[in-house]
Amino acid sequence: MDSFDFNACVVGAGAVGLACAYALARRGLSVVVLEKERAIGQGVSSRNSEVVHGGLYYPKGSLKARLCVTGRRALYAFLEAHKVAFRKCGKLVVATSAEETPRLEAIARQARENDVEGIAEIDGATAMAWEPGLACVAAVVSPESGVFDSHGYMLALVGEIEAAGGAVVTATPFEGAEPLAGGGFTVRSGGEAPTTLTVRHLVTAPGLSAQDVAARVEGFPPDRIPPRHLGKGVYFRLTGRAPFERLIYPPPIPGALGTHYRKDLGGQAVFGPDLAYVDRLDYSIDERRADGFYRYIRRFWPALPDGALAADYAGIRPKIHGPDDPQPDFRLDGPEFHGLDGLLAMFGIESPGLTSSLAIGEEVAIRLGLGAVPA
Ligand SMILES: Cc1cc2nc3c(=O)[nH]c(=O)nc-3n(C[C@H](O)[C@H](O)[C@H](O)COP(=O)(O)OP(=O)(O)OC[C@H]3O[C@@H](n4cnc5c(N)ncnc54)[C@H](O)[C@@H]3O)c2cc1C
Repeated sequence: MDSFDFNACVVGAGAVGLACAYALARRGLSVVVLEKERAIGQGVSSRNSEVVHGGLYYPKGSLKARLCVTGRRALYAFLEAHKVAFRKCGKLVVATSAEETPRLEAIARQARENDVEGIAEIDGATAMAWEPGLACVAAVVSPESGVFDSHGYMLALVGEIEAAGGAVVTATPFEGAEPLAGGGFTVRSGGEAPTTLTVRHLVTAPGLSAQDVAARVEGFPPDRIPPRHLGKGVYFRLTGRAPFERLIYPPPIPGALGTHYRKDLGGQAVFGPDLAYVDRLDYSIDERRADGFYRYIRRFWPALPDGALAADYAGIRPKIHGPDDPQPDFRLDGPEFHGLDGLLAMFGIESPGLTSSLAIGEEVAIRLGLGAVPA
């Protein structure tokens, strides 16, 4: 590997790209992360719910099921060790009518199959005693779910990468890569100081630009690039005191976990995200969407006052499936899929990507043949 400028280049300094760079740096590789924006974490990683997911819903054996559970355990340990703020507040998945209770049973069953710790099923009276003001007929408890400071987490990852001798370079877009004879890539970057460098491994974690970045790698088969779909979700915040301590989730909707309640680390109550497929990156919020929020939230919090919701922010999910397709797994595509030795390309890293990020980094390192972290 000595003849390369870096052992590895990671495209994208969101939570996933940084976690991959951290996993590689921990194995002694020299790593450079290229980020097109002027600061880290300005993409999907800054427009989400900041929820540490338990790992309840995903089909057993999927990457999402495995990496969410292992990633969650690793994430709490990392946050603790790096003094990044989090609150393991727990979560209630609530049924608001008898018709929904079979769905709760299925969620509890799936969660246990996925090895999620502490899952319990409680009746409505118990849930409403825990969270006065809540209306439900039954609930599943996930004590391991929580909220955290995702930006503090990404800054801690940068600290670890730099401490290991790696570099995170902002305002530096990846422009393209060409495979080298004998392995590795020439990588071209743009920005104010365009550069060309050689690397043994190339990891692409560019979130919403995954398709564009893959198409810029010479030799990447176009028919192996999944379609890009944009799943927008908006959030409304409560102007008033947060009514509940725990996360409150209704059962999932097709394509997303559903509009939920959280009390963030600052004590603010936030509801969202909903889901609407859009055709461009537009983070504006149509205030009329509040009507649907009032109806939806009042199913589990009937006392929500009129006029109490204010538009907050929006995020866009990097989906690879359309509204009528089943929810696919994360795609961590290695050479067996695209034929390019040393390349790991990611697609469709939507929820629970933040929670899973450390485990995704470990999985990427293993798939690149780099083995476990040296003791
Ligand atoms: C509404 C919403 C709510 C969510 N809630 C949760 C949650 O509560 N919990 C959870 O676990 N997950 C959640 N997720 C999912 C989670 O946010 C994502 O899976 C995760 O943030 C993806 O991180 P990433 O690093 O892959 O992408 P990003 O954070 O988007 O990072 C990609 C980076 O690549 C950069 N980039 C793109 N193109 C180039 C280029 N050519 N050159 C250089 N850099 C480039 C971008 O600027 C960006 O910084 C949510 C997602 C959404 C949209």
